[in-house]
Amino acid sequence: MNRQGRPSKPQGAPGQIVAPEFETFSGNRGLEQNEALLFEIGREGQCGVDLPVPEEDLTSRMGGLERGGEIGLPGVSEPEVVRHFVRLSQKNYSIDAGLYPLGSCTMKHNPRLNEKMARLPGFADLHPLQPISTVQGALEVMDRLSHWLITLTGMPAVALSPKAGAHGELCGLMAVRAALEARGEKRARVLVPESAHGTNPATAAACGYTVDEIPAGPDGRVDVEAYKAKLGPDVAAIMLTNPNTCGLFERDIIEIADAVHAVGGFFYCDGANFNAIMGRVRPGDLGVDAMHINLHKTFSTPHGGGGPGAGPVTFSEALAPYAPLPYVVQDGEGYDLVENEKDAADADPFGRMVAFHGQMGMFVRALAYMKSHGGDGLKQAAEDAVLSANYILASLKDVMSASFEGPCMHEALFDDGFLEGTGVTTLDFAKAMIDEGYHPMTMYFPLVVHGALLIEPTESESKISLDQFIGSLRGLAGLAKEGKTERFEGAPFLAPMARLDETAAARKPVLKYTEAAE
Ligand SMILES: *Cc1c(COP(=O)(O)O)cnc(C)c1O
Repeated sequence: MNRQGRPSKPQGAPGQIVAPEFETFSGNRGLEQNEALLFEIGREGQCGVDLPVPEEDLTSRMGGLERGGEIGLPGVSEPEVVRHFVRLSQKNYSIDAGLYPLGSCTMKHNPRLNEKMARLPGFADLHPLQPISTVQGALEVMDRLSHWLITLTGMPAVALSPKAGAHGELCGLMAVRAALEARGEKRARVLVPESAHGTNPATAAACGYTVDEIPAGPDGRVDVEAYKAKLGPDVAAIMLTNPNTCGLFERDIIEIADAVHAVGGFFYCDGANFNAIMGRVRPGDLGVDAMHINLHKTFSTPHGGGGPGAGPVTFSEALAPYAPLPYVVQDGEGYDLVENEKDAADADPFGRMVAFHGQMGMFVRALAYMKSHGGDGLKQAAEDAVLSANYILASLKDVMSASFEGPCMHEALFDDGFLEGTGVTTLDFAKAMIDEGYHPMTMYFPLVVHGALLIEPTESESKISLDQFIGSLRGLAGLAKEGKTERFEGAPFLAPMARLDETAAARKPVLKYTEAAE
């Protein structure tokens, strides 16, 4: 009972009636609403909007391509649409619902101030083809954002337009290729450490390079000797993440940069893990030539279901001339956009990455995030992110197996060593976390350790929420070690969907609705 005399404990607390097991008539379980497919709810002839019947017969304008019959899409009313998607969203885990151990590399807390700023009509209602004189404020936002990115990275130029980290990698390697071509060189290889994110080798291959893998040393970092042995005049670039995907700082980064420069190659840094170092170290000082910054990771701009993202790329002196169009310039009259190669004075842009200028909404959110934190606040966010991860590492390493010695950066990496002989796998362990009310951490990545469990709590979790999370993981690790495997086999038990055959779902996806046979 609380002080108002009202029950405050969930059911099952001592002295309370435990609910019997029963099936409900509706299929709902209290607040958890059962939800059918739209195809099962929808009816032909039902529609959520009223459209006027066209006065003339428009089919004549379709050049004979008009549809011949019904396409069988379900019609639903507006409240049905709203309920359908709200109910589905309630079956999902989200950063707004609880601690999200995938961290900034998927989604960190998005301060609501950012949303308020992005919804200002002057930003939200812009059209990319509006006359320049009517979008001076938006261009100023892009200019200020560029300034922050240049200052934080210590690099002289930035391209804002790429729309994701992977898109930024493509942008960076295209600039590398343009710079090499300008020297009259065509190089064949790009070096990628074996712990790299999959987009790195994919980008190099998409740009026509051969991917050459650099092994990791026993400390989880690039094996510098093996790396140097691979360098040669046909190496276009190395693509390196720092901190790397094991959550470790590449201590030899300056030596790595110098070595690739010595053979005339470039240093591409995957900046997805910038959250660990922003405000602490400037990648430009480490010898980086190009680096994408995932605004939707480090700078908190939200992205769901694959978009929108924003992956601006910063460039060194050597690559800056080849950076893509468009970019913002300021003269006595105000701001302008350089959109054509002929207007790019002293530069040789390789082209453009997108039709227009990039993700304006993300630019506004990212700048709001930067300005509300200030330079000192960004630095503190990075430090707190590293502190949180180390708190988790230190609190769990007696019951789970930490993959590498020593402290981590913003991610704590464990492998499945602690599960050896228990019959419980990394997958089972992760699924049991769903019953605990947590989204699992990154599993089976990076590939350099066996059965990886990679936890990134970010800076915004309180000690209380970290302790609860640690408590769950300690509890589960204890059960596994005691041989109490019933919580693992077949988990999750308390989620709307039980254990799914994810392999079959990926290999044999059912993408078309077919009515069940009567
Ligand atoms: C997320 C991520 C990427 C790709 O970024 P997207 O915005 O998802 O395209 C690349 N490298 C690393 C290390 C990442 O974490």
